[in-house]
Amino acid sequence: MAKGKNSLKDKLLYSQKHIEKIITKDQKNKCQKFSEGYKEFLKICKTERECVEFIKEKAEKLGFKEYELNKKYKAGDKVYYINKSKAMFVLTIGKKSLAKGLNIVASHIDSPRIDLKAKPLYEDSEIAYFKTNYYGGLRKYQWPTLPLALHGRIMKKDGQELDICIGEKEDDPVFYITDLLPHLADEQAQRPLSRAISGEDLNLIVGSLPYCEEDIDGANLVKLNIMKILNDKYGVVEKDLINAELSLVPALLPRDVGLDRGLIGAYGQDDRVCAYASLMAHLELKTPNYTTITMFADKEEVGSEGNTGLNSLILEYFVQNLAQQQGANYREVLANSKCLSADVNAAFDPSWAGVFERQNTARVNYGAVVTKYTGSRGKSGTSDASAEFMYEITSLLDKNDVIWQTGMLGKVDTGGGGTVAKYIAKLNVDVVDVGVPVLSMHAPYELTSKLDVFMLNKAFKAFINR
Ligand code: MN
Ligand code: MN
Repeated sequence: MAKGKNSLKDKLLYSQKHIEKIITKDQKNKCQKFSEGYKEFLKICKTERECVEFIKEKAEKLGFKEYELNKKYKAGDKVYYINKSKAMFVLTIGKKSLAKGLNIVASHIDSPRIDLKAKPLYEDSEIAYFKTNYYGGLRKYQWPTLPLALHGRIMKKDGQELDICIGEKEDDPVFYITDLLPHLADEQAQRPLSRAISGEDLNLIVGSLPYCEEDIDGANLVKLNIMKILNDKYGVVEKDLINAELSLVPALLPRDVGLDRGLIGAYGQDDRVCAYASLMAHLELKTPNYTTITMFADKEEVGSEGNTGLNSLILEYFVQNLAQQQGANYREVLANSKCLSADVNAAFDPSWAGVFERQNTARVNYGAVVTKYTGSRGKSGTSDASAEFMYEITSLLDKNDVIWQTGMLGKVDTGGGGTVAKYIAKLNVDVVDVGVPVLSMHAPYELTSKLDVFMLNKAFKAFINR
């Protein structure tokens, strides 16, 4: 086969290159800068509420105003809408009539984690613990023996909202779930991995010193001491913990991974990588052709349920309200709308090569991933983007020099997964998944590539400026 640009091979066959080999020095510098901002975001935003606060602050600084129901907006207006402190839409009104449709980019800001039960606090053998339940598809064996931080909101007896975050500052205490020492783990080591640590084994150590300022005898003095500390600091009593949303997340900082610093290691990159990349794209947006909504959804990791997840009617109602103001038919608006469901995909992992189909799995450093369909067992539970919409998006990315690749979640019948795509497709919107490949997805510390994250931001920019 002849070599060179015009060879038959170049003409007919599809090949891809490592991003580092094809982008300019200037682009590499921009990529480096972008990843520093991204790491800072990951450091501060470890729950959906914290993400909403961050996005609100950033947007307000740039002049975005709170969305008013039934107000008529004009091209160039910038607004945001917060749904119950845990989900958010950021919106810029476009030049074209609303009936021409919307640009929608939808990511999620919840991540797998461990939540506290309603009555969490107990004492056993003079150690105080919190009972927990895990949130999302996590591998339970990965969570013991890690430093954990406690984030969330407690509603106090007088109705006051109390936001707490313990374990993130360097001199904060952290929390901990124990595992067996290998010396005594013979029986545990024989169990299948999925049962090595059970859900009810995920008990969190919160203290070990008894209350002894007064001469009280009896049981539960360590538990009492913990409540005393919480009461002194926050004014809460045990019953208040019922009216709370408290979550445990790894008390770990985002770091560069590898001597060449090509990868980012951090908690919660699924899906805050898409949230950050799409937010930054939207904040730079001038007046777009199409009205653009960047959505940050909650509850994706538990099936998009609840009134802050995208399986609710919130998007439909929101578009209905928006359409009413502009005198448009919201069904027509939705039918003409295009959406990037912004979520991550699995990266090919050579150490676990057996579960991946090499040709169709995304690779780190090969760009933003366009995922035509997700699901499991014969495409079950997927919205499956059409040929026409795939063409529209991939040619748009090519035209804007976005380096992209396709991805698929492992070999057929090895498992599967889904995203918010199908809930948006339900509204007759054209949807395809776009994200980055992740190594060790859903682990307490996940890996992405800086180059891919940079390309993802470029992809979102291309889309919302279409
Ligand atoms: Mn996700
Ligand atoms: Mn996920």
